[in-house]
Order: sequence, then structure tokens, then C-alpha cells
Amino acid sequence: MHPERGGFDEGELMIPAQCSLRLVGRSAKPEGTEIEVRDVRIGGPEVIVFAGPCAVESEEQLISTARAVKASGAKILRGGAFKPRTSPYSFQGLKRDALRLLSQARVETGMPVVTEVLDSRQLDLIAEFADILQVGSRSMQNFPLLEEIGRSRKPVLLKRGMSATIEEFLLAAEYVMKGGNNQIILCERGIRTFEISTRNTLDLNAVPMLKRLTHLPVIVDPSHGTGHWWMVPQMAKAAIAVGANGLLIEVHCNPQDALSDGAQSLRPDRFDRMMHELRAVAAAVGMEMPAPATVPG
Ligand code: PEP
Ligand code: MN
Repeated sequence: MHPERGGFDEGELMIPAQCSLRLVGRSAKPEGTEIEVRDVRIGGPEVIVFAGPCAVESEEQLISTARAVKASGAKILRGGAFKPRTSPYSFQGLKRDALRLLSQARVETGMPVVTEVLDSRQLDLIAEFADILQVGSRSMQNFPLLEEIGRSRKPVLLKRGMSATIEEFLLAAEYVMKGGNNQIILCERGIRTFEISTRNTLDLNAVPMLKRLTHLPVIVDPSHGTGHWWMVPQMAKAAIAVGANGLLIEVHCNPQDALSDGAQSLRPDRFDRMMHELRAVAAAVGMEMPAPATVPG
């Protein structure tokens, strides 16, 4: 506490809406929230890694990637079915076919799956297939979508808007929780700054700030946060060092042929190396990396 600031510290002064964080604010649940998805616990002592391709492209691509990331210790499979692309001429995702492939991958690997909901009209369809609903950066302030997702009973992966302040991010989570859904995982995925050598600026300040202000688990996405596959392992280590509960990592067997985000996607061998290297960092901050898994078949 700083005596000249009337008993508030800087972190508190920076967030004028703190009193509006009735449900997501740390004081609503000082012990922190753990979210259970099948046999995975997010927000506990383990670093939970969400991994998979940016977009589901084919059965071969998804299943081989899912098997590889599971064997390296990833716990949740990601894959876009409905893709929010900047250009309307870019690959928009395999949509329903991708949802079917994601549930096939879940059956074959036992991993829960996460995929993005772009529009509240897709919610029922996606909720039939996905274990976790992703709200993307571009949708973080789609308030009707947040309200719909708030009525769902599926866990939510809420990504920070690329131009959203931490306060706006937490108020978006408050919308979801106000609707009755308290299973929210926050994801720092980089923000827009004047810097253009990286796709975004990964805001690792956000991790300790969010952990202080809210009881929700926080994960970090260094793939979108940097835009460069070769930066991903280093920023992943940094994210764990500053207290993230997990990571979201894009992985592709042939990044040069990927239909989206190939430049930031790790090959499975590099992903595996990163998972090994994360072990020492996790241990240094009192966290555990899950053991590599055997994949049946
Ligand atoms: C994604 O995870 O593939 C994605 C589109 O991310 P973001 O919404 O953070 O851009
Ligand atoms: Mn992507």
C-alpha cells in the first residue's frame, strides 16, 4: 500500500471498473477457480497445454496432429471449424465437417476439444461437438454472443480482444458469468501496438495483473502473440515463468502448407522439444508439466 495514494496500490488505481467485477473479481473467490473438463483440471497445479492446428483441414491432418500433441503432454485439442478470417477470400474453415472431425479426434485420443463460436446462431450446433467454447479476439466485445454463452453450461475459453484493455477483458468475462456460466478460462493472445516485427505484442504484464484482479485461470497464446513459430517456445517459457496456468499453441505437421497461420505453427517435433524444455521452468515456479502420454492405436 502506498500511503500517498489513499491506501490503494497502483494496480488497483489503474482499473476504475474494479467495483463492477462483482463475479469475476478476485474477492468473489479468493481461493481461485479450477475448471474441470472431462479428466483435465485447468487452474490447478499442472500447466495445461491446449494444442492443435489453427484450422481443421482434413482427417489426416487433424488426427495425426492430435496424436502427436497428446503424446507430448498436451491435454486439450484445439482446431478451428468456423474461422474468423480478415479477408473474405481466405479459407473460412471446414465448418460442420470440421466439427465431426473434432469429435472423431476426441474419440480416438480421449482429449477434450475446443473450437471457436463466431455467432450465437452456431452455439447449439458447436455445443453438441465441443467440450470448450472459444470466443475469439475479434468477438470479445460481441455482447449478445457473450450473453448467449453465459446461458450455456460449457466451459468457455475467452480470448482477449486485440485492442482490449484488461478492464474491458474482465468486463467481457463478467458478461459471461452474469449469464450464469462461471467456467471461464481467460487467454492473453497479444495486443496491437506500434510494433510490426511481430504479429502482436504478447502482453505478459497481463498475466500477473489478471491473476491479481480475478480468480479465473489464465492461459497464454504465444502463437498469435508473436506470429513467428521460432519465438513460440521462448515466449511459452516466459508465460509459465510469470504464472500462467497453461498455454495455447498452434501445431501443424506441414506448416508451409497450412491453410491458416502456418508461419506461427510449430511442427510436432519442435512442439515436443518445447514441452520438455518447459519442465524446468514450471518446476521453478512450483508448477508441474504433465507426463507424456501414450496414445492408443
Ligand atoms: C485462433 O485461436 O485460431 C484465433 C483465431 O485466435 P484469435 O481470436 O486470438 O485471433
Ligand atoms: Mn490461428
